[in-house]
Amino acid sequence: MVTVLDRSAPLAGRPRHPEKVGRPDSPVQRKPDWIRVRAPGSPVYNETRAIVREHGLVTVCEEAGCPNIGECWSKKHATFMIMGDTCTRACAFCNVRTGMPGPLDPAEPEKVADAVAKLGLTHVVITSVDRDDLADGGAQHFVEVVHAIRRRSPDTTIELLTPDFLRKPGAVAKVVAAGPDVFNHNLETVPSKYLTVRPGARYFHSLRLLQEVKELDPLMFTKSGIMVGLGETRNEVLQLMDDLRSANVDFLTIGQYLQPSRKHHPVVSFITPREFAAYETIAYAKGFLLVSASPLTRSSHHAGEDFARLRAARAAGRG
Ligand code: SF4
Repeated sequence: MVTVLDRSAPLAGRPRHPEKVGRPDSPVQRKPDWIRVRAPGSPVYNETRAIVREHGLVTVCEEAGCPNIGECWSKKHATFMIMGDTCTRACAFCNVRTGMPGPLDPAEPEKVADAVAKLGLTHVVITSVDRDDLADGGAQHFVEVVHAIRRRSPDTTIELLTPDFLRKPGAVAKVVAAGPDVFNHNLETVPSKYLTVRPGARYFHSLRLLQEVKELDPLMFTKSGIMVGLGETRNEVLQLMDDLRSANVDFLTIGQYLQPSRKHHPVVSFITPREFAAYETIAYAKGFLLVSASPLTRSSHHAGEDFARLRAARAAGRG
């Protein structure tokens, strides 16, 4: 999942990230000139916002404080975050609220499907909070959302960006059987950073999840993303690329980590556009079907256009 800019205020006296309250402050650094985004507020942006509100839906665009929201929502591209706005994990990079989530909303699949139809989306990205409290990690809810969208908008292609379903046997197979067009699961960072950046997750488990998707359905597109600027080395990123290719992952996204608040993991470095371009070149050389590497690349940024490019690349025999 992506991050950035904490615009949130404590809710009814409860901090958004209770587990981070006691952490030392890390001042948020000024962003370099090459990170500039469009301000939100165009008429189409407001229309998108109204549809999201009308359906009572949660978006990762808002919850993660994504810097691309002005651009994406001006094209009606919103990424829905299902199963609530509260995550059972507490990653050091993420701005999504943490704590014990409420019960699932059984009407949510239909609400999402209705919003997808009203927005006229040809490609939709659905993600979720981690729901370690549920027996299947929320796999069945993902399935119901896919089915509801298929019934309502059969021509819309569906991309799922899932949590890792750690210790939930059968969850991945259930989601794959629902037949999304793209199965995305982010590694987020290199293995040496997991204990500080993503302590509730396991690198090998996430990698294995991606491999399992391909084993279950070799034609399903798989995708994974990382943030850079968290203190990883270049060689670690290159090794991670090899690991993903060993799992036959098709599409790699690499974006700059931005720090949501003083209590989040600090930005260790701002990677230059030139370094991103080098990562992209190397990743293509390693055999990815598609690569997006830039400061503002996020998992769901330009997902519809990228899906078309993925299909074209496969049709051209490149994967
Ligand atoms: S990049 Fe993804 S999360 Fe960010 S605003 Fe666009 S659709 Fe939303």
